Amino acid sequence: MVGEVRSGGCACGAARYEIKDEPIFVNNCHCRQCQQQTGSTSVLNMFVEMEKLALVSGETTRHVVKAGSGGDHVIVRCALCGTALWSHYPRLGELGAGVRVGTLDNPADIRPDAVIYTAEKMEWLALPPGIPAFEANYNPAELLPPDRFARLKALAAKARPA
Ligand SMILES: [Zn+2]
Ligand SMILES: [Zn+2]
Repeated sequence: MVGEVRSGGCACGAARYEIKDEPIFVNNCHCRQCQQQTGSTSVLNMFVEMEKLALVSGETTRHVVKAGSGGDHVIVRCALCGTALWSHYPRLGELGAGVRVGTLDNPADIRPDAVIYTAEKMEWLALPPGIPAFEANYNPAELLPPDRFARLKALAAKARPA
């Protein structure tokens, strides 16, 4: 485990969280669902094991929507102000969390590993240079460094025992 602890929270300040490791991967997703759920161009999510993410103050509410794959996507929000803090997606379920990078206290040091679902992006939006972009999703085995792919594999195995 890496030493750095990242902290973040909601807009009203009631809900605060800490993340005790580097991200497994960071996606900037431009799919239609992410556009609709955020009301914006895309979402920027930093994925970590849920055991490395802790709510340290405040309370949250859970909101279930359908994921692109058809499974349940659970959005966890501050119970007071409604800011979306992280999501559980069907593939990793409750064992993994995609934390909204914009809610970190220092979001600037997180860069996306990939821009995904560019086929659905808003037409006027230019893609960032130097970051791999994909029309849909990508194969994490090909994109992620081995240590981070190993964390993803371990988490996926736990989420879907054979
Ligand atoms: Zn709040
Ligand atoms: Zn998306």
